[in-house]
Amino acid sequence: MMNERVYNFAAGPAVLPLPVLKKAQEELLCLPGAGASILEISHRSKTFDAIINGAQENIRKLYNIPENYKILLMQGGALTHFAMVPMNILRNSGKKADYIVTGTWSKKASGEAKTQGEVNVVWDGKAESNFTRDPLPSEYKIDADAKYVYFTSNETIEGVQWPAEPESNGLPLVCDSSSDVFSRPVDINRYGVLFACAQKNAGPAGVTMIIIRDDLLECSGDDLPTMFNYKKQAAGNSMVNTPPCFAIYMLKLVTEWLLNDIGGLEAMKKLNEEKAAILYEVIDASDGFYKGHAAKEYRSMMNVPFRLPSEELDNKFKAEAQEVGLSTLGGHRSVGGLRASIYNAMPKAGVEKLAAFMEDFRKKNA
Ligand SMILES: *Cc1c(COP(=O)(O)O)cnc(C)c1O
Repeated sequence: MMNERVYNFAAGPAVLPLPVLKKAQEELLCLPGAGASILEISHRSKTFDAIINGAQENIRKLYNIPENYKILLMQGGALTHFAMVPMNILRNSGKKADYIVTGTWSKKASGEAKTQGEVNVVWDGKAESNFTRDPLPSEYKIDADAKYVYFTSNETIEGVQWPAEPESNGLPLVCDSSSDVFSRPVDINRYGVLFACAQKNAGPAGVTMIIIRDDLLECSGDDLPTMFNYKKQAAGNSMVNTPPCFAIYMLKLVTEWLLNDIGGLEAMKKLNEEKAAILYEVIDASDGFYKGHAAKEYRSMMNVPFRLPSEELDNKFKAEAQEVGLSTLGGHRSVGGLRASIYNAMPKAGVEKLAAFMEDFRKKNA
Protein backbone atom coordinates (compact mmCIF):
# COMPACT_ATOMS: atom_id res chain seq x y z
CA MET A 1 0.00 0.00 0.00
CA MET A 2 1.23 3.42 -0.92
CA ASN A 3 1.14 5.86 1.95
CA GLU A 4 3.67 8.45 0.91
CA ARG A 5 2.81 11.40 -1.27
CA VAL A 6 4.07 11.11 -4.86
CA TYR A 7 4.61 13.79 -7.48
CA ASN A 8 1.15 13.70 -9.02
CA PHE A 9 1.06 14.70 -12.70
CA ALA A 10 -2.68 13.98 -13.11
CA ALA A 11 -4.65 16.25 -15.42
CA GLY A 12 -7.58 16.68 -13.04
CA PRO A 13 -8.57 16.40 -10.29
CA ALA A 14 -4.97 17.34 -9.76
CA VAL A 15 -2.23 18.26 -7.32
CA LEU A 16 -3.08 20.84 -4.66
CA PRO A 17 -0.61 23.04 -2.76
CA LEU A 18 0.69 21.17 0.30
CA PRO A 19 0.21 24.17 2.65
CA VAL A 20 -3.45 24.28 1.55
CA LEU A 21 -4.00 20.59 2.30
CA LYS A 22 -2.29 20.99 5.68
CA LYS A 23 -4.45 23.96 6.59
CA ALA A 24 -7.61 22.08 5.56
CA GLN A 25 -6.48 19.11 7.64
CA GLU A 26 -5.77 21.34 10.61
CA GLU A 27 -9.20 22.96 10.40
CA LEU A 28 -11.22 19.93 9.37
CA LEU A 29 -12.56 18.98 12.78
CA CYS A 30 -13.14 22.51 13.97
CA LEU A 31 -13.20 25.57 11.76
CA PRO A 32 -11.90 28.47 13.89
CA GLY A 33 -14.84 30.26 15.46
CA ALA A 34 -17.43 27.79 14.15
CA GLY A 35 -17.15 24.99 16.70
CA ALA A 36 -17.74 22.48 13.90
CA SER A 37 -16.29 21.32 10.59
CA ILE A 38 -16.76 23.20 7.33
CA LEU A 39 -18.50 19.97 6.27
CA GLU A 40 -21.10 20.42 9.00
CA ILE A 41 -22.09 24.09 9.02
CA SER A 42 -24.93 25.94 7.35
CA HIS A 43 -24.31 27.85 4.16
CA ARG A 44 -26.56 30.53 5.69
CA SER A 45 -24.14 31.04 8.61
CA LYS A 46 -21.98 34.12 9.12
CA THR A 47 -18.94 31.83 9.02
CA PHE A 48 -19.76 30.56 5.55
CA ASP A 49 -20.66 34.03 4.34
CA ALA A 50 -17.14 35.13 5.21
CA ILE A 51 -15.74 32.13 3.33
CA ILE A 52 -17.63 32.65 0.07
CA ASN A 53 -17.10 36.41 0.15
CA GLY A 54 -13.41 35.86 0.93
CA ALA A 55 -13.02 33.49 -2.02
CA GLN A 56 -14.68 36.02 -4.34
CA GLU A 57 -12.53 38.87 -3.01
CA ASN A 58 -9.36 36.85 -3.58
CA ILE A 59 -10.40 36.05 -7.16
CA ARG A 60 -11.13 39.74 -7.72
CA LYS A 61 -7.66 40.67 -6.43
CA LEU A 62 -5.82 38.01 -8.41
CA TYR A 63 -7.41 38.99 -11.73
CA ASN A 64 -7.82 42.68 -10.94
CA ILE A 65 -11.55 42.41 -11.66
CA PRO A 66 -13.46 45.71 -11.78
CA GLU A 67 -16.79 46.30 -10.02
CA ASN A 68 -18.87 45.72 -13.15
CA TYR A 69 -18.22 41.98 -13.07
CA LYS A 70 -19.83 39.36 -10.81
CA ILE A 71 -18.12 36.20 -9.63
CA LEU A 72 -20.38 33.14 -9.43
CA LEU A 73 -19.33 29.92 -7.69
CA MET A 74 -21.56 27.19 -9.01
CA GLN A 75 -21.83 23.42 -9.41
CA GLY A 76 -22.05 21.35 -12.57
CA GLY A 77 -18.44 21.50 -13.72
CA ALA A 78 -17.16 23.28 -16.79
CA LEU A 79 -19.28 21.12 -19.08
CA THR A 80 -22.53 22.48 -17.62
CA HIS A 81 -21.37 25.98 -18.49
CA PHE A 82 -20.60 24.97 -22.09
CA ALA A 83 -24.42 24.96 -22.35
CA MET A 84 -25.30 27.58 -19.75
CA VAL A 85 -23.28 30.37 -21.35
CA PRO A 86 -25.20 30.18 -24.66
CA MET A 87 -28.45 29.36 -22.78
CA ASN A 88 -28.18 32.67 -20.95
CA ILE A 89 -26.43 34.92 -23.44
CA LEU A 90 -27.05 33.61 -26.94
CA ARG A 91 -30.46 31.92 -27.03
CA ASN A 92 -32.66 35.03 -27.15
CA SER A 93 -30.19 37.36 -28.82
CA GLY A 94 -31.08 36.77 -32.47
CA LYS A 95 -27.33 36.60 -33.06
CA LYS A 96 -24.68 34.00 -33.71
CA ALA A 97 -21.69 33.17 -31.57
CA ASP A 98 -18.20 32.72 -33.03
CA TYR A 99 -16.27 29.71 -31.75
CA ILE A 100 -12.54 29.21 -32.28
CA VAL A 101 -12.01 25.47 -32.10
CA THR A 102 -8.46 24.60 -31.07
CA GLY A 103 -8.84 21.23 -29.35
CA THR A 104 -11.10 18.65 -27.78
CA TRP A 105 -12.65 20.99 -25.20
CA SER A 106 -13.54 23.86 -27.51
CA LYS A 107 -14.94 21.36 -30.01
CA LYS A 108 -17.16 19.94 -27.27
CA ALA A 109 -18.16 23.46 -26.18
CA SER A 110 -19.20 24.39 -29.72
CA GLY A 111 -21.36 21.26 -29.86
CA GLU A 112 -23.08 22.08 -26.58
CA ALA A 113 -23.64 25.67 -27.71
CA LYS A 114 -25.42 24.40 -30.84
CA THR A 115 -28.15 23.02 -28.57
CA GLN A 116 -28.91 26.63 -27.53
CA GLY A 117 -28.37 28.82 -30.57
CA GLU A 118 -26.54 29.49 -33.79
CA VAL A 119 -22.84 28.76 -33.70
CA ASN A 120 -20.27 29.77 -36.24
CA VAL A 121 -17.02 27.80 -36.04
CA VAL A 122 -14.63 30.45 -37.36
CA TRP A 123 -11.55 28.20 -37.25
CA ASP A 124 -11.41 24.43 -37.05
CA GLY A 125 -8.02 23.46 -35.67
CA LYS A 126 -8.60 19.76 -36.28
CA ALA A 127 -8.78 20.28 -40.03
CA GLU A 128 -6.13 23.02 -40.13
CA SER A 129 -3.47 21.61 -37.86
CA ASN A 130 -4.61 18.41 -36.08
CA PHE A 131 -4.98 20.57 -32.94
CA THR A 132 -1.29 21.45 -32.74
CA ARG A 133 -1.62 25.23 -32.68
CA ASP A 134 -3.92 28.25 -32.37
CA PRO A 135 -4.81 30.38 -35.42
CA LEU A 136 -3.19 33.65 -36.45
CA PRO A 137 -5.62 36.60 -36.60
CA SER A 138 -5.42 36.45 -40.41
CA GLU A 139 -6.74 32.88 -40.44
CA TYR A 140 -10.20 33.55 -39.07
CA LYS A 141 -12.86 36.18 -39.55
CA ILE A 142 -15.01 37.48 -36.71
CA ASP A 143 -18.62 38.35 -37.58
CA ALA A 144 -18.97 42.01 -36.54
CA ASP A 145 -22.49 41.18 -35.39
CA ALA A 146 -21.61 38.08 -33.32
CA LYS A 147 -22.75 38.02 -29.69
CA TYR A 148 -19.37 36.81 -28.42
CA VAL A 149 -16.13 35.14 -29.43
CA TYR A 150 -15.44 31.85 -27.66
CA PHE A 151 -12.04 30.27 -27.03
CA THR A 152 -10.35 27.75 -24.72
CA SER A 153 -7.26 29.39 -23.26
CA ASN A 154 -5.54 26.06 -22.66
CA GLU A 155 -6.50 22.83 -24.39
CA THR A 156 -5.80 20.33 -21.62
CA ILE A 157 -5.68 17.20 -23.78
CA GLU A 158 -3.56 18.50 -26.68
CA GLY A 159 -1.39 20.81 -24.56
CA VAL A 160 -2.08 23.84 -26.77
CA GLN A 161 -2.28 27.22 -25.03
CA TRP A 162 -3.03 30.68 -26.39
CA PRO A 163 0.08 32.87 -25.79
CA ALA A 164 -2.35 35.83 -25.42
CA GLU A 165 -6.06 36.42 -25.95
CA PRO A 166 -7.31 36.01 -29.53
CA GLU A 167 -8.26 38.97 -31.68
CA SER A 168 -12.01 39.55 -31.34
CA ASN A 169 -12.68 42.86 -33.12
CA GLY A 170 -13.81 44.47 -29.89
CA LEU A 171 -16.43 41.78 -29.19
CA PRO A 172 -16.55 40.28 -25.70
CA LEU A 173 -14.50 37.12 -25.27
CA VAL A 174 -15.98 34.06 -23.60
CA CYS A 175 -13.22 31.85 -22.28
CA ASP A 176 -13.02 28.35 -20.85
CA SER A 177 -9.97 28.71 -18.63
CA SER A 178 -10.48 25.46 -16.72
CA SER A 179 -6.92 24.21 -16.99
CA ASP A 180 -4.96 27.46 -16.78
CA VAL A 181 -7.01 29.66 -14.48
CA PHE A 182 -4.72 31.71 -12.16
CA SER A 183 -1.62 30.48 -14.05
CA ARG A 184 -0.89 34.00 -15.38
CA PRO A 185 -2.47 37.47 -15.37
CA VAL A 186 -5.24 38.23 -17.89
CA ASP A 187 -6.73 41.50 -19.12
CA ILE A 188 -10.20 40.82 -17.75
CA ASN A 189 -11.68 43.85 -19.50
CA ARG A 190 -11.54 41.97 -22.78
CA TYR A 191 -13.75 39.23 -21.36
CA GLY A 192 -17.53 39.01 -21.21
CA VAL A 193 -17.28 35.68 -19.40
CA LEU A 194 -14.34 33.71 -18.04
CA PHE A 195 -15.25 30.37 -16.50
CA ALA A 196 -13.22 27.55 -15.01
CA CYS A 197 -13.87 24.39 -13.06
CA ALA A 198 -11.69 24.27 -9.97
CA GLN A 199 -10.28 20.75 -10.08
CA LYS A 200 -7.37 21.39 -12.46
CA ASN A 201 -5.69 24.48 -11.12
CA ALA A 202 -7.74 26.00 -8.31
CA GLY A 203 -9.18 23.47 -5.89
CA PRO A 204 -11.11 20.21 -5.67
CA ALA A 205 -13.93 19.02 -7.95
CA GLY A 206 -17.36 20.45 -7.20
CA VAL A 207 -17.15 24.17 -7.86
CA THR A 208 -16.92 26.17 -11.08
CA MET A 209 -16.08 29.88 -11.24
CA ILE A 210 -17.95 32.15 -13.63
CA ILE A 211 -16.67 35.70 -13.93
CA ILE A 212 -19.30 37.59 -15.89
CA ARG A 213 -19.78 41.20 -16.97
CA ASP A 214 -22.89 42.91 -15.59
CA ASP A 215 -24.45 43.82 -18.95
CA LEU A 216 -24.34 40.16 -20.02
CA LEU A 217 -26.22 39.13 -16.89
CA GLU A 218 -29.13 41.11 -18.26
CA CYS A 219 -29.42 38.63 -21.17
CA SER A 220 -30.70 35.76 -18.98
CA GLY A 221 -34.30 35.02 -19.96
CA ASP A 222 -36.96 34.97 -17.21
CA ASP A 223 -38.20 31.69 -18.66
CA LEU A 224 -35.01 29.88 -17.64
CA PRO A 225 -35.17 27.54 -14.63
CA THR A 226 -33.75 29.31 -11.59
CA MET A 227 -30.71 27.06 -11.26
CA PHE A 228 -29.75 27.69 -14.89
CA ASN A 229 -30.19 31.44 -14.73
CA TYR A 230 -26.96 33.41 -14.23
CA LYS A 231 -28.84 36.59 -13.36
CA LYS A 232 -30.72 34.87 -10.54
CA GLN A 233 -27.57 33.09 -9.39
CA ALA A 234 -25.79 36.43 -9.19
CA ALA A 235 -28.69 38.04 -7.34
CA GLY A 236 -28.53 35.19 -4.79
CA ASN A 237 -24.71 35.38 -4.48
CA SER A 238 -24.51 31.77 -5.81
CA MET A 239 -26.60 30.58 -2.86
CA VAL A 240 -29.98 30.12 -4.50
CA ASN A 241 -29.67 26.63 -3.04
CA THR A 242 -26.93 24.88 -1.05
CA PRO A 243 -23.59 25.68 -2.71
CA PRO A 244 -20.61 23.27 -2.70
CA CYS A 245 -19.40 24.60 0.66
CA PHE A 246 -16.26 22.50 1.05
CA ALA A 247 -15.06 23.11 -2.51
CA ILE A 248 -15.59 26.86 -2.06
CA TYR A 249 -13.64 26.74 1.21
CA MET A 250 -10.77 25.00 -0.59
CA LEU A 251 -10.92 27.55 -3.40
CA LYS A 252 -10.56 30.27 -0.79
CA LEU A 253 -7.45 28.56 0.65
CA VAL A 254 -5.89 28.10 -2.80
CA THR A 255 -6.48 31.74 -3.75
CA GLU A 256 -5.01 32.81 -0.40
CA TRP A 257 -1.93 30.70 -1.15
CA LEU A 258 -1.61 32.37 -4.56
CA LEU A 259 -1.83 35.84 -3.04
CA ASN A 260 0.27 35.35 0.09
CA ASP A 261 2.72 32.48 -0.52
CA ILE A 262 3.27 32.89 -4.27
CA GLY A 263 2.82 36.67 -4.42
CA GLY A 264 0.24 36.98 -7.20
CA LEU A 265 -0.11 35.95 -10.81
CA GLU A 266 2.99 37.62 -12.30
CA ALA A 267 5.09 35.57 -9.89
CA MET A 268 3.01 32.46 -10.62
CA LYS A 269 3.47 32.95 -14.36
CA LYS A 270 7.24 33.22 -13.99
CA LEU A 271 7.37 30.00 -11.98
CA ASN A 272 5.13 28.21 -14.48
CA GLU A 273 7.33 29.33 -17.38
CA GLU A 274 10.41 28.03 -15.60
CA LYS A 275 8.81 24.67 -14.88
CA ALA A 276 7.50 24.19 -18.44
CA ALA A 277 10.88 25.17 -19.95
CA ILE A 278 12.60 22.38 -18.02
CA LEU A 279 10.42 19.69 -19.63
CA TYR A 280 10.38 21.17 -23.12
CA GLU A 281 14.18 21.42 -23.07
CA VAL A 282 14.46 17.71 -22.32
CA ILE A 283 12.01 16.92 -25.14
CA ASP A 284 13.82 19.21 -27.61
CA ALA A 285 17.24 17.81 -26.73
CA SER A 286 16.17 14.16 -27.00
CA ASP A 287 17.00 13.66 -30.70
CA GLY A 288 13.39 12.78 -31.39
CA PHE A 289 13.15 10.14 -28.67
CA TYR A 290 10.48 12.25 -26.99
CA LYS A 291 8.01 13.84 -29.39
CA GLY A 292 5.85 16.72 -28.20
CA HIS A 293 2.50 17.56 -29.77
CA ALA A 294 2.02 21.33 -30.01
CA ALA A 295 3.91 23.76 -32.23
CA LYS A 296 6.53 25.65 -30.23
CA GLU A 297 4.78 29.04 -29.84
CA TYR A 298 1.61 27.37 -28.59
CA ARG A 299 3.07 24.86 -26.15
CA SER A 300 1.16 24.76 -22.90
CA MET A 301 2.71 25.77 -19.59
CA MET A 302 0.22 23.46 -17.86
CA ASN A 303 -0.05 20.19 -19.80
CA VAL A 304 2.92 18.65 -21.58
CA PRO A 305 1.86 15.71 -23.79
CA PHE A 306 4.62 13.62 -25.35
CA ARG A 307 5.23 10.26 -26.99
CA LEU A 308 8.09 7.79 -27.07
CA PRO A 309 9.09 5.82 -30.19
CA SER A 310 6.58 3.02 -29.42
CA GLU A 311 3.54 2.30 -27.33
CA GLU A 312 5.56 -0.38 -25.59
CA LEU A 313 8.09 2.25 -24.47
CA ASP A 314 5.25 4.60 -23.42
CA ASN A 315 4.01 1.88 -21.10
CA LYS A 316 7.47 1.00 -19.80
CA PHE A 317 8.10 4.69 -19.08
CA LYS A 318 4.82 5.03 -17.20
CA ALA A 319 5.45 1.94 -15.08
CA GLU A 320 9.05 2.81 -14.17
CA ALA A 321 8.14 6.42 -13.43
CA GLN A 322 5.36 5.30 -11.12
CA GLU A 323 7.86 3.15 -9.21
CA VAL A 324 10.00 6.19 -8.36
CA GLY A 325 7.06 8.33 -7.30
CA LEU A 326 6.34 10.12 -10.59
CA SER A 327 2.66 9.36 -10.86
CA THR A 328 -0.24 9.47 -13.31
CA LEU A 329 1.69 10.29 -16.48
CA GLY A 330 -0.71 8.58 -18.89
CA GLY A 331 -2.13 10.68 -21.75
CA HIS A 332 -5.87 11.28 -22.12
CA ARG A 333 -7.71 8.09 -23.08
CA SER A 334 -8.70 9.68 -26.41
CA VAL A 335 -5.13 10.31 -27.59
CA GLY A 336 -2.87 7.96 -25.62
CA GLY A 337 0.84 8.62 -25.13
CA LEU A 338 1.99 10.45 -22.03
CA ARG A 339 1.10 13.75 -20.44
CA ALA A 340 2.70 15.62 -17.58
CA SER A 341 0.31 18.12 -16.06
CA ILE A 342 2.35 20.68 -14.18
CA TYR A 343 -0.25 23.01 -12.70
CA ASN A 344 0.44 25.87 -10.27
CA ALA A 345 0.69 23.48 -7.31
CA MET A 346 3.29 21.17 -8.90
CA PRO A 347 6.57 22.03 -7.19
CA LYS A 348 9.59 22.80 -9.36
CA ALA A 349 11.36 19.90 -7.63
CA GLY A 350 8.75 17.52 -9.08
CA VAL A 351 9.39 18.79 -12.59
CA GLU A 352 13.15 18.54 -12.08
CA LYS A 353 12.80 14.96 -10.88
CA LEU A 354 10.69 14.08 -13.94
CA ALA A 355 13.22 15.77 -16.25
CA ALA A 356 16.09 13.78 -14.73
CA PHE A 357 14.06 10.57 -15.04
CA MET A 358 13.35 11.33 -18.71
CA GLU A 359 17.04 11.85 -19.50
CA ASP A 360 18.00 8.68 -17.71
CA PHE A 361 15.23 6.66 -19.39
CA ARG A 362 16.29 7.87 -22.81
CA LYS A 363 19.93 6.90 -22.25
CA LYS A 364 18.86 3.41 -21.27
CA ASN A 365 16.23 2.88 -23.94
CA ALA A 366 17.10 4.94 -27.03
C1 LIG B 1 -11.44 19.37 -17.56
C2 LIG B 1 -11.89 20.37 -18.52
C3 LIG B 1 -13.26 20.57 -18.77
C4 LIG B 1 -14.34 19.71 -18.15
O1 LIG B 1 -14.53 20.02 -16.82
P1 LIG B 1 -15.68 19.33 -15.95
O2 LIG B 1 -15.63 20.08 -14.67
O3 LIG B 1 -15.30 17.88 -15.82
O4 LIG B 1 -16.96 19.49 -16.68
C5 LIG B 1 -13.61 21.57 -19.65
N1 LIG B 1 -12.70 22.36 -20.23
C6 LIG B 1 -11.38 22.19 -20.02
C7 LIG B 1 -10.40 23.09 -20.70
C8 LIG B 1 -10.94 21.20 -19.15
O5 LIG B 1 -9.62 21.04 -18.94
